[in-house]
Amino acid sequence: MVDIAQQLAQVHERIAQAEQRFNRAPGSVSLLAATKTCAPEAILTAASCGQRVFGENYLQEGLTKIEALKKENFEWHFIGPIQSNKTRDIASHFSWVHSVDRLKVAQRLSDQRPSDLDVLSICLQVKTSDETSKSGVLPKDLIKLAKEVALIPNLSLRGLMTVPAITHDFEEQRKPFKVLYDLWCELRNIGFELDTLSIGMTDDLEAAIAEGATLVRIGTAIFGSRSQKST
Ligand SMILES: *Cc1c(COP(=O)(O)O)cnc(C)c1O
Repeated sequence: MVDIAQQLAQVHERIAQAEQRFNRAPGSVSLLAATKTCAPEAILTAASCGQRVFGENYLQEGLTKIEALKKENFEWHFIGPIQSNKTRDIASHFSWVHSVDRLKVAQRLSDQRPSDLDVLSICLQVKTSDETSKSGVLPKDLIKLAKEVALIPNLSLRGLMTVPAITHDFEEQRKPFKVLYDLWCELRNIGFELDTLSIGMTDDLEAAIAEGATLVRIGTAIFGSRSQKST
């Protein structure tokens, strides 16, 4: 059994140490708990330690947990690949979407955002290390997409997100994050009011904080490895 309370405390400690080591302001990096494959009980345990922000990758799985935990008032972020025919449920049940990578999806999320909810906060997902993932806008197409998305109602463009290719070398981990950080600065310089750089997972949290992460998305280091869980 994984001790979620203890692991969560260790993640907070890793974040605090990385903030200090890389001259980031204390508390400038927030934590999203990535809960794919986690049972609602595990989420409640993390919540009892103060965690309120959770991210889900798979829509059906996420909706089931959001429904089961409805009265808790957690903040739910959608962080997985988006099929454009699934946008209605994302727009209706989540506060944030980190994985917007095309105009059509942004337009549908806007059209389908219920009018009694606040605007949907979004990040644009950028492909920073080619081949690896199918998701993400190419860096060369980012500014055009950002300008188009900024004109759409019911959405608030908050930042950028990426999921780079896996490597265990610290300097290699930093490279794609640096690419994303530079794009983020470029957008801010031309007037986009971005406050979120969504980078960093269990294995590359420190590299992400070194390159300016404002939010890290952590699953394994809090809830244990997903392969263990399914056996
Ligand atoms: C699973 C996942 C995470 C968390 O990854 P860990 O390595 O388990 O911390 C973060 N972001 C996305 C998009 C994910 O799919």
